[in-house]
Amino acid sequence: MSDLREAPKPTPSRLKRLAGRWWRQQSPSRQDRFATMGPLVSVLLFLAAITSAFWYLRNEEIDRATEALHRDTEVAQQQIRLHLIENQEQLVRMARELVTRDIDAKEFMDQAATFQRERPEVRLVAWINAQREVRASQAVSTFHPETAPNGEIPEPALPVENQRSEAEAAFLAARDARQPLYSKPYNDAQGAPVFQLHVPLIDRHGFAGAIVVEYSIEALLRYFVPTEVTRRHAIAVLGPDQRVLTGTVNTPTQTQSNNTLAYQVPLAPLANGMQLRGQGFRTSIGLIGNTLFWMVVALSVLTVWMLLGTWRHMRRRGQIQKALVQETNFRRAMENSMLTGMRAMDMNGQVTYVNPAFCAMTGYSEAELVDGFPPFPYWPEDRIEENMRLLQQELQGRSPAGGIEVKVKRKDGSVFDARMYVSPLIDPKGQQTGWMTSMTNITEAKRIRDQLSASHERFTTVLEQLDAAVSVLSVQQGELLFTNRSYRLWFGGDAKGHEGLTSVGISPPFQTEGDDEVDTLSGLPTQELMESGAQPREVYIESLQMWFDVRSRYLQWTDGRLAQMLIATDITARRRIEEQAQQQAERAAATSRLITMGEMASSVAHELNQPLTAITNYCNGIVSRVRAGTIQTEDMIAALQKTARQAERAGQVIHRIRAFVKRSEPQRQASQAVDIVEDAVELAGIELRRRKVNIHTYVAQRLPPLMVDPILIEQVLMNLLKNAAEAIDNAQMPPSRRHIELRVVPKHSAEEGGVIEFSVTDTGPGMKEDVLARLYEAFFSTKVEGMGIGLSLCRSIIESHQGRIRAQNLYNGSSVTGCRFAVTLPVDLTQKAEGPSVPDVPMEAAVSNPNASSS
Ligand code: ADP
Repeated sequence: MSDLREAPKPTPSRLKRLAGRWWRQQSPSRQDRFATMGPLVSVLLFLAAITSAFWYLRNEEIDRATEALHRDTEVAQQQIRLHLIENQEQLVRMARELVTRDIDAKEFMDQAATFQRERPEVRLVAWINAQREVRASQAVSTFHPETAPNGEIPEPALPVENQRSEAEAAFLAARDARQPLYSKPYNDAQGAPVFQLHVPLIDRHGFAGAIVVEYSIEALLRYFVPTEVTRRHAIAVLGPDQRVLTGTVNTPTQTQSNNTLAYQVPLAPLANGMQLRGQGFRTSIGLIGNTLFWMVVALSVLTVWMLLGTWRHMRRRGQIQKALVQETNFRRAMENSMLTGMRAMDMNGQVTYVNPAFCAMTGYSEAELVDGFPPFPYWPEDRIEENMRLLQQELQGRSPAGGIEVKVKRKDGSVFDARMYVSPLIDPKGQQTGWMTSMTNITEAKRIRDQLSASHERFTTVLEQLDAAVSVLSVQQGELLFTNRSYRLWFGGDAKGHEGLTSVGISPPFQTEGDDEVDTLSGLPTQELMESGAQPREVYIESLQMWFDVRSRYLQWTDGRLAQMLIATDITARRRIEEQAQQQAERAAATSRLITMGEMASSVAHELNQPLTAITNYCNGIVSRVRAGTIQTEDMIAALQKTARQAERAGQVIHRIRAFVKRSEPQRQASQAVDIVEDAVELAGIELRRRKVNIHTYVAQRLPPLMVDPILIEQVLMNLLKNAAEAIDNAQMPPSRRHIELRVVPKHSAEEGGVIEFSVTDTGPGMKEDVLARLYEAFFSTKVEGMGIGLSLCRSIIESHQGRIRAQNLYNGSSVTGCRFAVTLPVDLTQKAEGPSVPDVPMEAAVSNPNASSS
């Protein structure tokens, strides 16, 4: 037992196990190689075994044939040898008798005939003496006389002295050797191969001649080689020169080929170089000529070829398998890295597959889900019925293409929203084997959507509740993209309202001239596109009898189209109030002018009194001189002309006052500053003269025309001049400080651009701080009879002309030397004054008539 354990015998099962282990240790590529090479090697080994078996059999056969040949050849040789020896012995006996008993020729002939009769191979028996003379001769001829050319029977070849022939050579040799001797083979007269035996006759005197016997080699073969031998092999006799003398068959085997078997033995007891050759009839079957061998080779080649084909096929299969494995791995990796949950069901609703994402979503493992039947564990309890219905719908293939929203319960009990898409699962044969469901978690998406819709709702609510009409119109299609409630209320549902609001504007947005201003892409004015929010416009809609403040801007609509958004706010009420205020202001201005005139009434009366007194004086003078008859026609004409001039002057004053107080609609027109100044100074001059105040006027040359209402501007200047005169007069300024300066100059400032400035500077006491602060307040006055609306009116007039009014005190050191009111009105400074040129010299409108101070 212990011995067995120490050296276990390699039992077959153990060997099998070892081989199995070795096989498993090999790498797959090596296993492949072995699996491929194994059959190939075994086929080659089989081929080698078959070849060597054939080789062995062939050699065996050759050996056997060689052995048979040797035996047969030797048998033939033995037969011939025995005969020849027996003949030789017989002849030696005859020779002895011939010598000892003194036999004559006749007796010899009898003996020879007997000898020859029994031996068909012997052609000639002759007795010759030492001188080569024939004593007796017995010849058998196989020669047929009719075939000979001359019909003569040839003489047998016997030794002739000094003749070089085989017979002579043998004769001499036998005489010298004194024993029987065979000649070399030679052809007789008929060409048949023959040889001779010379048996010497030795008597008491020595050599006494010889018995010559001629053998036919052909006959030797024919009669002494057994027929079994000749049937199996070709037996031939070769001369000393290895030339075939004769053979049992006429085979053309003169030259020995490698394939033929041959065996040569010397032809004893001839000792004349002749040999007996035995030759195999059949050429032994070589490997190359063996059909069976070639069939085996062909089959082996076929097997190898098929093995190689199988190997190539396997290699291709291996490549395909590798690609398949790669593809499978790739798909599995893809499947595992997917965030969408996948679930496959068979046609009965049994789960056949879930991917890792599905497991991660639901919290259940693959083992818990696969092979499960509905109701599935991830269905919330309160929704089992609904889910069952959805599943039925799914199995019947009626699920909506857009997917279904479901609630999914995780293993931990939490619930999330998911969207499921169902598609049929088709196998490679094109048959449906089940349903594939993909699931995505839409909780976050749903929350965002809810938030969006809530914010959208808020947004629409705000827009809908807005008092302003909001509308968005696509620029290219002219189609309304959005309207709010106010818009629909006022304009209905069509785009006409939107177009109305844009086209009735001050500048129509789409019709612009000049290619440079038009954006080639959208056909929109570039100016409009560039402005982030266009200037608000006030638009009156006739059909609604309403005013709107319209703001428009261009925007990119949600679908990318260019659109125009309008926000139209109803400003009808404001416009009404503004209109009313405007009317009131106009009325106030008119009233103020009347008040001014009322205040100036005494001055005006005084002003008019002068010409009227003058007229009266002239008329009285003329009347008295006409009555006295002292007046010349020329004097009278001159006096009447003076009268008319005075009347004209009075008329002018009245005309100016009428023009000033006449209530008219505010009318802007191109007006020259110089005209306005002239009229204002003319009217104010009445008051200035009464208050004994000088005025100095300066109007710059070539001023551009102003787009103003001249009466209103004149009213402003009148007010400023009147206030200045009142301030000087009320402060009872000394005559040195009783003057006013009115200057009109063009100006340009960064703030206002180009303007014309009217400034009134007085030499009065100036204004206190509190007065300065409240200057433009309505009904603020420091005067006993003051109304306090003058400056307030001035400001509203100037501001309605987009101008400005400023007031300031003038100082000389710390003491006030007067004050200055400046009014600026916008103007295009590049436009130069037209019409009558203004005097180059400053207009001296100071009223310094002598009456002024006295009256
Ligand atoms: P009223 O002249 O009827 O008082 P205004 O509106 O014309 O009304 O003037 C308001 C006040 O401004 C005047 O009461 C006066 O105190 C002051 N004021 C106007 N112009 C001057 C001036 N040139 N110098 C000093 N004070 C002036």
